Amino acid sequence: MEKVMAVNAGSSSLKFKLYEMPSEKVICSGIVERIGFDDAIFKIKYSGNEHKEITPIKDHSEAVKLLLDGLIKFGIIKHYDEIKATGHRIVQGGSYFSSSAIINDDTLNKIRDLIPLSPLHNQAELIGIQAFKKVLPNTPGICAFDTAFHQTMTEEDYTYAIPYEYTLKYRIRRYGAHGTSHKYLSEEARKFLAKDSDDRMIICHLGSGASLSAIHNGKCVATSMGLTPLGGIMMGTRTGDLDPSVFNYVVSQTGKTSEEIYQEFNKKSGLLGVSGISSDARDLIKAESEGNKRAALANKLWARRVADFIGQYYVRLGGCDILVFSAGIGENSPVYRELVLENIKEALHIEYDKELNNSTIGVERLISTSTSSIKVAVIPTDEEVMIARDAYNMLLK
Ligand code: ADP
Repeated sequence: MEKVMAVNAGSSSLKFKLYEMPSEKVICSGIVERIGFDDAIFKIKYSGNEHKEITPIKDHSEAVKLLLDGLIKFGIIKHYDEIKATGHRIVQGGSYFSSSAIINDDTLNKIRDLIPLSPLHNQAELIGIQAFKKVLPNTPGICAFDTAFHQTMTEEDYTYAIPYEYTLKYRIRRYGAHGTSHKYLSEEARKFLAKDSDDRMIICHLGSGASLSAIHNGKCVATSMGLTPLGGIMMGTRTGDLDPSVFNYVVSQTGKTSEEIYQEFNKKSGLLGVSGISSDARDLIKAESEGNKRAALANKLWARRVADFIGQYYVRLGGCDILVFSAGIGENSPVYRELVLENIKEALHIEYDKELNNSTIGVERLISTSTSSIKVAVIPTDEEVMIARDAYNMLLK
């Protein structure tokens, strides 16, 4: 039994989950938030206990030290070196990585080289890796890339119709995201299929950030997010795909800078932008039930965009055996699932059990009937366990 830590570092936060491997038992999980502030927050859950502490934390190295000292204080480990490996989530792996990679100079240089493609994420994730390296210098680690699973797409699926020299010079293409989740869900979904091969799946990872993917025989053939996680379906605060002229037109009409509008397309659009109320699906269900018309429009629009991608992927795959709903909305919202299913059921001959849909919240279950032409499953995603599995398999097994 070895202890492996899965890490997800942001610019001011650090989420962690400690596993006992290979049993995949979660020993503890937690987050350090507001790193760099005097009132940083450290939260940890272990053996049914929860602890929260507010304390100044200067940087990510201090955050790592605080969390490891916390593990010792709560009797979870006795020494730092009980952590035998770490696995770090990295958003952008570009065309360099089609699977997880062991952390070494080459891996770090490539992640650094990809910073222009994902400035918000890769930089923070590198800081997270360096912080662990400083506190646990002898503990090996791996990186798991959000883009890696989508590297099996063909050129015609990932190329944008822009001048080709830009594609080459600036590495502009569809990379996708949430790949670790799509991979996990496609492996889990196989359980529901009687056959071993030629399986076709459409995976809907529907959280605040959301993406769909089309999977054939375990390989991704298409995914909805693009160069960055702004593309694809409409999300909590992101636009999803747009006519590119909208961007130019909004800049020219508002007099705002392109950076300001870009930020608005990332943070003030989607469900929040259309409804003017909230980016949270729960608030919008409530608002719609109280008669709010913009909330109703946001909900309808969201479901229509998800349905559009499902239709597109059904054609791309030449059929579909199973449709999977996952992440915050997909796992927990029968209302939103129903909105999507009502849009597609006629064309795709889907039959689902409304009672079963309503009672399926946060658990793995089929909600389609036995006569449905496509199975419909709800599967809670687990990106961290995939990261811990890769760390264990690549470094300790
Ligand atoms: P992300 O990882 O992109 O932040 P999550 O997968 O955590 O997103 O999903 C968060 C979203 O899930 C929330 O914004 C909320 O809209 C939605 N959500 C969570 N629970 C429910 C629920 N019970 N009903 C409806 N929506 C929910």
